[in-house]
Amino acid sequence: MAATSETPAVPPRRKTGRHRGEGQWAAGHFTPLNGNEQFKKDDDGLNVRTRIETIYSKAGFDAIDPNDLRGRMRWWGLYTQRKPGIDGGKTAVLAPEELDDRYFMLRVRIDGGRLTTRQLRVIGEISEEFARGTADITDRQNIQYHWIRIEDVPEIWRRLEAVGLSTTEACGDTPRVILGSPVAGIAEDEIVDGTWAVDEIQRRIVGNPAFSNLPRKFKSAVSGSPLLDVAHEINDIAFVGVRHPDLGPGFDVWVGGGLSTNPRIGVRLGAWVPLEDVPDVYEGVVSIFRDYGYRRLRNRARLKFLVADWGAEKFRRVLEQEYLLRPLADGPPPEQPVARWRDHVGVHRQKDGLHYVGFAPRVGRIDGPTLTKIAALAEEHGSGRVRTTAEQKMIVLDVPADRVDSLVAGLEALDLRVSPSPFRRGTMACTGIEFCKLAIVETKARGSALIDELEHRLPEFDEPLTININGCPNACARIQVADIGLKGQLVLDDEGRQVEGYQVHLGGALGLEAGFGRKVRGLKVTSEELPDYVERVLRRYLEQRTDGERFAA
Ligand code: SF4
Repeated sequence: MAATSETPAVPPRRKTGRHRGEGQWAAGHFTPLNGNEQFKKDDDGLNVRTRIETIYSKAGFDAIDPNDLRGRMRWWGLYTQRKPGIDGGKTAVLAPEELDDRYFMLRVRIDGGRLTTRQLRVIGEISEEFARGTADITDRQNIQYHWIRIEDVPEIWRRLEAVGLSTTEACGDTPRVILGSPVAGIAEDEIVDGTWAVDEIQRRIVGNPAFSNLPRKFKSAVSGSPLLDVAHEINDIAFVGVRHPDLGPGFDVWVGGGLSTNPRIGVRLGAWVPLEDVPDVYEGVVSIFRDYGYRRLRNRARLKFLVADWGAEKFRRVLEQEYLLRPLADGPPPEQPVARWRDHVGVHRQKDGLHYVGFAPRVGRIDGPTLTKIAALAEEHGSGRVRTTAEQKMIVLDVPADRVDSLVAGLEALDLRVSPSPFRRGTMACTGIEFCKLAIVETKARGSALIDELEHRLPEFDEPLTININGCPNACARIQVADIGLKGQLVLDDEGRQVEGYQVHLGGALGLEAGFGRKVRGLKVTSEELPDYVERVLRRYLEQRTDGERFAA
């Protein structure tokens, strides 16, 4: 029917009278607006531990309640892994239960990346005994196991907790692992040591039911290193070491960073916080997220959406007036780091005259037996401490000068490079299709093969470079902030067949030039073409670079 003066072309919108807002608790919206909010309201995720210990580990996988299996188990670091043999084309079309394997991924949180060699040995032993030798280092300083049976989980917890480790809130809508500078307390150039704050936040907040039902995950970082070594720009909250001209060393506060879909670089609140106030400010910000965070839609529930709507000024005002009940001092921003690598790889002097030795496995892939050997090697060389980094690397601390060469030789013999090529050093990969239910393509093996190819084809390449590989459109390996970011998807090959490949993003960065890589319109490469493509990009750069130019799109 044609529109006339009696029949408007656009019918008026029907008023439902049910404006539900964003589901913010602070606005009085306590009725769950989606399935996740419902299961969290029905029972705190932390409570699933008792059922795992008393029922599921005894009765087996089939006894697990579906809301626990795909929901609450995350509160204890457990996800079902992907059933082997399901290709990436089926990821989006199969129901979750068809993708679920009967085995779990288990994430061990390592706050601040700090481990003793005893703890590392226990992690390695658990890997060998219960996880088929798997133990990946994640880009959030965690260790991630695969092939875990529900029957073994209580014993794994017992062994981890006996040495002071845990999986509490390693996943889920919770305060996840607190990233910390992996050279906290030892680096000669450190502005301020954030270790006490990491421990105090963990003691106060982690496993505390007052903070175990957040709108979504809450990622945090504390670093007093001038190298900006914890990817602070993409955390929900980050504390970055700065020197205040009047007040001395302390932290600059950032909020609202995050990648995945709708990536955002965090914003500075312009506030300076002394070490002893960091836990209070953390508690204030996580409380704002709990109370004001959006709970209606999962894809708008991260803190970054609230920060984008409020802006830094309002966020700081609410933090000071409603939560801290005191003003914060204004403070300076962090300075430009002197080096572009942030991973602490190589041999470096500590402030006490000993040395730390950072090394690069391949794309975070390591295994239980190797972890046990690293622990033994460290001890043989006078060290009792190791650290994991946010770049999927590791560091052995406290090595006397006369033991360094021997340690380096021992690590290299395990294929753990202390002087790696830029490709080994700068390539990261997420879990990918081997174990992840959301994955569309392979990542770890592909990344490892790419390193070999590039080392062979471009031995002259000598610049810091990051190549980050994701198995799906999520951002677990931070593709948006890499020089070359590769987002896994199915692409068409020359003959029009759907094959594994990647959408290319070029020119992302962290640091004071932080920004997201540009999606190169239409540029998708098949997995097979990947080494040729990266080689072409890097060769063109080598031929055309000018003095002082660094690799970028
Ligand atoms: Fe899984 Fe995607 Fe995250 Fe990779 S980026 S681990 S494929 S969800």
